[in-house]
Amino acid sequence: MTRKSRELKAQGKNVINLSIGEPDFNTPVCIKEAAKKAIDDNFTHYTPVAGTQELRKAIAEKFKNDNGIDYTFDQIIVSTGAKQSIANALMCLVNPGDEVIVPAPYWVSYPEMIKLAEGKMVDIPTTVQQDFKATPEQIEAAITPKTKAFLFNSPNNPSGSVYSKDELKGIADVFAKHKHVYIISDEIYEYINYAGKHESIAQFENIKDRVITINGVSKGFAMTGWRVGYMAAPLEIAKACDKFQGQVTSGTSSVSQQAALEAVKINPCASKELTEMIDTFKTRRDLLYSKLIEIPDVEANIPDGAFYIFANFADYYGKSNGSVTIRNDSDLCIYLLENALVALVPGSAFGNPDCIRISYATSTENLMDASDRIRKSLAQLS
Ligand code: PLP
Repeated sequence: MTRKSRELKAQGKNVINLSIGEPDFNTPVCIKEAAKKAIDDNFTHYTPVAGTQELRKAIAEKFKNDNGIDYTFDQIIVSTGAKQSIANALMCLVNPGDEVIVPAPYWVSYPEMIKLAEGKMVDIPTTVQQDFKATPEQIEAAITPKTKAFLFNSPNNPSGSVYSKDELKGIADVFAKHKHVYIISDEIYEYINYAGKHESIAQFENIKDRVITINGVSKGFAMTGWRVGYMAAPLEIAKACDKFQGQVTSGTSSVSQQAALEAVKINPCASKELTEMIDTFKTRRDLLYSKLIEIPDVEANIPDGAFYIFANFADYYGKSNGSVTIRNDSDLCIYLLENALVALVPGSAFGNPDCIRISYATSTENLMDASDRIRKSLAQLS
């Protein structure tokens, strides 16, 4: 899709890219200033593998203030992004043949990381009707003696779904009964949440000693390129990840760590630039949703977080415009790219081929234009 999209752009075609996975906003000024100061102060040497003590302490403080969870700084391991933290956790926990339960739709990297760790992914399908959230009953049914971990993401990429405190409690109560299972909770979209306060599953004491919380500064602080993520974990897991990371990347950039220190000290809800970003995302979400549900036979829900809508287009599979027949999500994405000049991501990449992910990390004008183009192209199929 990316290659094709580039080819069309090179031919001078006005392709609208709705496949974007990062905020289209800039890093707040105070964070950039902290990085400039780090350079001027020659804070440019290796740091400890797990990150500077100051940053790890600030992250522990953030967990206390924002999430109501107590960690000591040595339970925090800073990495080159939430992506590396998830990979660290899986590499340290999963032995060959171990099962990792993942609700679908899931982030594209999870299956590949589980494969790298020689584990076996067990996915739990969910639908738009259940707001793409796995229920305690579904999770209970997926657990076996070989289950090593449950890996999930809220707010979710690609569905935007956000688990409430009650829903998380239901899940925690399941794992309280299955003490051989770790819970890896990817909370990278924590601050891009329109439903209210973010809830972390580690708040539940009956499972806290088996929860690995993953987070970072990429999405909520518009800092994708700085490469700083972190985990909060039981001490033995944190130590193992420190050791593992030490042979792979060492500590992440010293300058980025100083920028991240500034970021985690500000609560995004108290930052004008960041609250404006979240408000803009919410306005765009409402706009895109209203445009999508105007399209016949497209099913979507209003997501509570992240910056994606995962809409069901399966009613268009099997239809044709006379020259092309749409067999599946990939065909439909190629058709919409060539015909509507809109780039999207097929749902099969996220474990649900009935759907397509539409990112609203772009301007209102682009969203209006792209949804009109999608509607017109779909109308040519019968
Ligand atoms: N987890 C999810 C669900 C994501 O969507 C992404 C990025 O797209 C990441 C983790 C990786 O974040 P980072 O940039 O911190 O590595």
